[in-house]
Amino acid sequence: MPLHSYQCADCKSHFEVLVRPPRRTEPTKCEFCGKSNITRKISAFAVTHNELDAIRALDPMYKRMVEDQMARTPEAEPMRLLNKLTPFDAAKDPGEPIDF
Ligand SMILES: [Zn+2]
Repeated sequence: MPLHSYQCADCKSHFEVLVRPPRRTEPTKCEFCGKSNITRKISAFAVTHNELDAIRALDPMYKRMVEDQMARTPEAEPMRLLNKLTPFDAAKDPGEPIDF
């Protein structure tokens, strides 16, 4: 979809309007000051297909398969890091207790 850029000659504001086919309505007034002294500038193209759209388009079964595989990895174990900690009474030098 084309993205049209406009410049207002009165307030020098710059704004962009997405022109969706089949309705090709173009702005006649400045979005900021409301005056009609606007000129169209070189337009860019709006990118509608991005990474997020691609992820949303994935098959739900594929997402389920990925989640099942992720749950089987060692990193998914919630006690993984807690099990590596030394208990306070087993530590050689536990240090001073912290006064909260
Ligand atoms: Zn303006």
